Amino acid sequence: MPIDDVTRILCLAAHPDDLDFGCAGTIAGWVESGIEVTYLLCTRGDQGGFDDTPREQMSELREREQRAAAAAVGVHDVRFLDGYRDGWLEPTFALQRDIVRVIRQVRPDRMLMPSPERNWQRIGASHPDHLAAGEAGIRAVYPAARNPFAFPELVSEEGLEPWTVREVWLMADPAPDHGVPIEKTFERKIAALRAHASQTGHLDDLEGMLREWAERIAGVLHLPEGAMAEGFRIIRTA
Ligand SMILES: [Zn+2]
Repeated sequence: MPIDDVTRILCLAAHPDDLDFGCAGTIAGWVESGIEVTYLLCTRGDQGGFDDTPREQMSELREREQRAAAAAVGVHDVRFLDGYRDGWLEPTFALQRDIVRVIRQVRPDRMLMPSPERNWQRIGASHPDHLAAGEAGIRAVYPAARNPFAFPELVSEEGLEPWTVREVWLMADPAPDHGVPIEKTFERKIAALRAHASQTGHLDDLEGMLREWAERIAGVLHLPEGAMAEGFRIIRTA
């Protein structure tokens, strides 16, 4: 069972639209219940999209789309890391430090991030950048963010004290153990994904696809017939 005294959640992803496909319904519910949610994106998705957008405009366009998608589920604190290229993400110490910095700024009770484990049943969900973001994210949670001697310059130069994130929710994990029903937030999830027009404008039946995914996940997690859900693996990290 997840922890229940949660006031702040930090959601980490590799690319614009990852959070919207994976968990916008869940996030909409969190915001509705009064939880403060922050998004942290490692890249601006400059390798995504199609030929109808000039490549040099893609980063800026996708940042705008992500901010609009976040707003559709009530999230207004959206942060982007600089210096990481879509398709080239690795769980480097630089990336870990950048994530630790934001953990110590936001001080979340819970983090949501992509699973660092490849899901062989759904290779598309396990893009190498997602695995890298998840690996860097979990290393940032444990041990770095809570250890004053990891990246000591964050304390000495930026005044960012250690912080312990108590729980992590993994998206697209091969072994999800927790389903969040999204029937009530499904419309907001669709609105969030439509905001990523450069990516989802090309899909014939976005809603049908999302419905099918959500019903399949509900089935895997043994929710009642016809339920729709997003699935996670919950890790206690404190
Ligand atoms: Zn992605």
